[in-house]
Amino acid sequence: MDGDPLGTHRVIEPVGALPQPAWKLNNDTSKLFATEILLEVDVLNIDAASFRQMQEEVGSAQKVPDKVVQTVEQRGKQHNPVTGSGGMLLGRVKWVGDKAAHRGVVEGDKVATLASLSLTPLRIFKTKAVREESAQIDVEGEAIVFASAPFAKLPSDFDARVAVALLDVAGAAPQVDRLVKNEGEQGKPPTVVILGAGGKSGLLCAAQARRTAGADAKIIGIESYSPYARDLRDLGLCDAVVEADARDPLAVRKAVFEAAGGEADLSISCVNVEGVEMSAIIVTKQRGKVYFFSMTTSFSRAALGAEGVGKDIDLFIGNGYAIGHADHTLDLVRTSPALRRLMEQRYGG
Ligand code: NAP
Repeated sequence: MDGDPLGTHRVIEPVGALPQPAWKLNNDTSKLFATEILLEVDVLNIDAASFRQMQEEVGSAQKVPDKVVQTVEQRGKQHNPVTGSGGMLLGRVKWVGDKAAHRGVVEGDKVATLASLSLTPLRIFKTKAVREESAQIDVEGEAIVFASAPFAKLPSDFDARVAVALLDVAGAAPQVDRLVKNEGEQGKPPTVVILGAGGKSGLLCAAQARRTAGADAKIIGIESYSPYARDLRDLGLCDAVVEADARDPLAVRKAVFEAAGGEADLSISCVNVEGVEMSAIIVTKQRGKVYFFSMTTSFSRAALGAEGVGKDIDLFIGNGYAIGHADHTLDLVRTSPALRRLMEQRYGG
């Protein structure tokens, strides 16, 4: 049997659903299909918003692996029912179906999946360790990659754990590059505000915004966690790094006005908590843009919130996938030595 490239042959419930929105997938790895690739899983890189939600629910990071095992037993995949998000994984190719041979991997290759865990059939045999800082869990398990699901061979010049951390948020930098290009009025360099700027995707967005918009752009980072705010300041990517709660729109507006002297052309949400939509919206100028990379973003809060304050701004959802996103992100880090050092220090094994 070939199996459907979209993976619908693995959907158990509800019948007719695609694997991502489905409640439950068939994760039986003893029966494989010709379009599939089977991986031995070493590390689960849990989505930051999902990890934080589970940590708050079970009371400590050390108990998160049990919660993950429970979800996988119920759903056949790591699809957090509260946040709706997954993450991605690091593994080794164990078997390649006849109709997946063209995908360029052979048994033993180390790969990172670039499609969400929320659609990846997964079995966990054992959890071994958890690292709160990177939201990663070392496991023994197996996972299935569908024919339509992107993945990347691990680069040889990065520590595997750092690579998987970067690839988890690989969509952000190339999309920020597109959004920042041509931004700013009449040749005036743009103002960019990043909420959660000291986290993994926030750092990448700051680095990309600076690279694309140039030295004259104003880049303001908002970060609530002091050590990460300090890291961001030390990198020198931002004109101002403000320690503030991004869920407080008035505090964020005050901070941005003081630092930039006006509203932003582009705001970016990279937080791992709920409730920052209005901060991003009110600091953005009329006809400006907000890029919601965060998985905690609520469509209704964003759309109705912008309407409610009379802001005609373009609201973008951060697509996890962009063509060439893995290479783009790894190159950004490769060519930013200080950023690379920080990523290795934080997320390295
Ligand atoms: P991360 O490394 O945990 O970064 C989030 C940052 O926001 C952290 O520094 C965090 O501080 C900070 N923060 C938390 N609450 C805040 C607040 N109230 N005010 C200001 N800053 C606050 O997470 P990440 O891996 O970069 O992921 C960021 C977001 O992107 C998450 O929502 C994740 O789910 C999402 N994501 C989206 C995609 C996509 O395809 N669109 C893909 C992957 C991830 P603490 O350290 O104190 O928490």
